[in-house]
Amino acid sequence: MDLSIKCNIAAVEQNIQLAQERRAKRTGSTLMPVKLIAVTKNHSTAEMQQAIDCGLTAIGENRVQEAVAKYDVFQDQLEYHLLGHLQTNKVKQAVPLFDLIHSVDSEKLARQISRVAGELNKVQQVLLEVNVAGEITKFGVPLADALHFAKLVSELPNLVVSGLMTIAPHYDDPEATRPLFRSLYEKFIAMKQVSLPNCTMQWLSMGMTNDYPVAIEEGANMIRVGTAIFGARNYAIELTRR
Ligand SMILES: *Cc1c(COP(=O)(O)O)cnc(C)c1O
Repeated sequence: MDLSIKCNIAAVEQNIQLAQERRAKRTGSTLMPVKLIAVTKNHSTAEMQQAIDCGLTAIGENRVQEAVAKYDVFQDQLEYHLLGHLQTNKVKQAVPLFDLIHSVDSEKLARQISRVAGELNKVQQVLLEVNVAGEITKFGVPLADALHFAKLVSELPNLVVSGLMTIAPHYDDPEATRPLFRSLYEKFIAMKQVSLPNCTMQWLSMGMTNDYPVAIEEGANMIRVGTAIFGARNYAIELTRR
């Protein structure tokens, strides 16, 4: 077994705990649980197995194709999360596979998920992706439209809006993400208070390798970490394999 993955996970778990303590101290509340999603895109099933052996059960993938291939190996041992942009023509493959789809960013996509989930007698849990910084290169609805979008999506059958997700811009200084995370947390709390049908607003998915401690301090209860666990991704290998 590659000891580095084990050590990396221990370090991430330690950082999570410290960030939870800082948040608890600042808000004067008890420690809030944080769910760690191990992001395994561009990493092998052998590496995934090591993370599973260390007790991680929630796995995140970016692309449906890659997830389909890996899922064959693990089947129902895992909780499977789709993090990347989902095209409507991949929904048929995605819905049977994923416990949570983090990247619902259009009404068209939500309708297709609802339709396919209905055919499969599944209730699909989804997060709504919010583009907090308004970057033109990113998917997601603007922060100001999030509530309106949640209203549209939560009216669809066979689908539950379980929360919000964002991918913050990459800043060298993760402190720069703090106001963005804070504004999404405030939106999340405001939306929790509007009781919509089929809308639990349980999860706030924000924070990656570069910024997860800041995200937790600002109220994330689900973080998505790849590089800090598995090391840098080798995209060259991925390209030749495809
Ligand atoms: C790749 C990816 C992550 C993990 O990124 P790291 O920086 O490697 O931790 C998290 N979320 C999404 C949506 C991703 O695409």
